[in-house]
Amino acid sequence: MRIARFTTGEDPLYGVVTGEVDELGQPAQDSVIVALAGDPLYVGVKLLDQEHRLEDVRLLAPVLPRSKVVGIGRNYAAHAAEMGNDLPTEPLMFLKPNTSVVGPGDPIFYPPQTQNLHYEGELAVVIGRICRDVPPEKATDVIHGYTIANDVTARDLQKSDVQFTRAKGFDSFCPLGPWIETDLDPQAFADGVKIQTFLNGDVVQDGSTSDLIFDIPTLVAHVSSVMTLLPGDVILTGTPEGVGPMNVGDEIEISIAGLGTLTNKVALR
Ligand code: MG
Repeated sequence: MRIARFTTGEDPLYGVVTGEVDELGQPAQDSVIVALAGDPLYVGVKLLDQEHRLEDVRLLAPVLPRSKVVGIGRNYAAHAAEMGNDLPTEPLMFLKPNTSVVGPGDPIFYPPQTQNLHYEGELAVVIGRICRDVPPEKATDVIHGYTIANDVTARDLQKSDVQFTRAKGFDSFCPLGPWIETDLDPQAFADGVKIQTFLNGDVVQDGSTSDLIFDIPTLVAHVSSVMTLLPGDVILTGTPEGVGPMNVGDEIEISIAGLGTLTNKVALR
């Protein structure tokens, strides 16, 4: 099931995106979104007698992280190498504030404090229930679904600050979307799921979750051994190699097989 959040100009609603999708997860042109009563994370999926053509609505971030977005750094060997870092011996965690979250089509604002703003295409895990100390073999029980993230990073500030908070925490630095797929299990594919990032139409990242150093169950176990996870919290699983700069006016599309495409443009703040 593909769970989105959307507006037609009125108050935002959650909805289920129906219809066929291609192998990338892109829905057919005639897809519709069926509105839901309330937030399915808390009240389950209750369909309303209201539907819209997908092309007639504006999609919003499919989840508002209740407390946090947890980032994982250097979780692909080739990316750690391109940044000149050693491989981590355990997952490297950081936090992005929930105020950094924006939705599909929303602008990524280029802050005046940086001269080197980077995209990082990532698979995002959406937590479905309150949990702590989750063993890896129970991780799928606490996962609501998956979506796509851009872990936007001011690379120069990441290097100059000891903490990643400023470099990764500006408003609009965590685009999420286009929806949450609750049926996808990336662990079920021996070859993982493909992650591609396009900068103005050119492929700049081309990776697979099969190259994750720490797999998703390990990440859920590790993060939840430190902090309680709440429904709607998000874990970003790390970015493959090929990170690079974005400039004002650039369009960044991140595609993950089975999840569709998240598209945002960079704008002046
Ligand atoms: Mg990242």
